[in-house]
Amino acid sequence: MAATMAAAFSPLLSRSVTGAGLATPGNPPRSSGGGDKTLKLFFEPYVLQLKHTFTLANSSRTTTPVMLTRIEYEGFTGYGEASMPPYLGESHQTATAFLSKVDLTRFSDPFRMEEILEYVDRIAPGNPAAKASVDIALHDLTGKIMKQPWYKIWGLSAEKTPDTSFTIGMDTAEVVRQKTLEAAPYKILKVKLGRDTDKMMIKTIRSVTRVPLCVDINQGWTDRKKALEMIYWLKEQGVVFVEQPMPRDRPDDNAWLTQHSPLPVIGDEAIQGLNDLIDAYQVYSGVNIKLMKCTGMWEAREMVTLARAQQMKVMLGCMTETSCAISAAAQLSPMADWADLDGNLLIGNDLFDGMKIVNGKVTLFDRPGIGIKKIKS
Ligand code: MG
Repeated sequence: MAATMAAAFSPLLSRSVTGAGLATPGNPPRSSGGGDKTLKLFFEPYVLQLKHTFTLANSSRTTTPVMLTRIEYEGFTGYGEASMPPYLGESHQTATAFLSKVDLTRFSDPFRMEEILEYVDRIAPGNPAAKASVDIALHDLTGKIMKQPWYKIWGLSAEKTPDTSFTIGMDTAEVVRQKTLEAAPYKILKVKLGRDTDKMMIKTIRSVTRVPLCVDINQGWTDRKKALEMIYWLKEQGVVFVEQPMPRDRPDDNAWLTQHSPLPVIGDEAIQGLNDLIDAYQVYSGVNIKLMKCTGMWEAREMVTLARAQQMKVMLGCMTETSCAISAAAQLSPMADWADLDGNLLIGNDLFDGMKIVNGKVTLFDRPGIGIKKIKS
């Protein structure tokens, strides 16, 4: 395990889980190009540098650890990523420990995705981002073999993608003003609230722009009556929905708020994966689906189907991620009411070129798989 950890902390090393030792990216230890009929998983840690300090109701940071994965098969390479904001409990160490146990060489057909992903899921509980990094790489790989992007394989229409929101974090009035001015190309802004500066934040943004806003409280409100008063005020300010207003372990308060709220109330922290969604319609009007919470594209698609069957709104969200995981989520976006896929725009060291925001709208291209190209290694 000590050797594994050493590999995990060197950005120059990529470890093959075939047991064949270390290899530089693109130069695996065994012949995996051409006719190799087994799947091979590689992973390496990476640290995203945020352009601005990112402040939520309960935390603040300038970097995000990610794990970059790739699966090689018969000369094709599929890319994946695990994004692991510290407050969610995964890290370079946990992802290394988990991915070291994933032996994809036991599979010779990447299209048996259900079987492969079930195997990965059963290796250990938890680890949703690490699992997503395998799921995304597998989708990228199979899409490339089929020479089609996943939104097309799913039969979705590229023109149905939603506008994406751009996130304004909590800050001083001057910084908020400046960030709002910089966000001019976006048709909807997502404002992080949950502290005693909430009204100041909204008033400052409204002094600059009239675009619709959505607000994310990140569980920051604790009094449901005050929360309801605030939602009525926010509605007058042109806010269109409220995300995770109260702590996730208080379903009764969140349900009361949803019942009385003039705006849709979206569950985020309270709804990680498919299991959490089963009864969530009794508490929230919609769900924020994120690949890093729900183990990847496979389960995310199942969640969209279940949410729709329960007449829930669907939002697609993200963590701070490279264009790899963002482009993977974007494949699902024609099925969403709202997208919040700006995580790649918040970082200064992206490694991929992928989904673009054009005039504020998620824009999908004809590239196969999850629609990315690696631009740096
Ligand atoms: Mg949220």
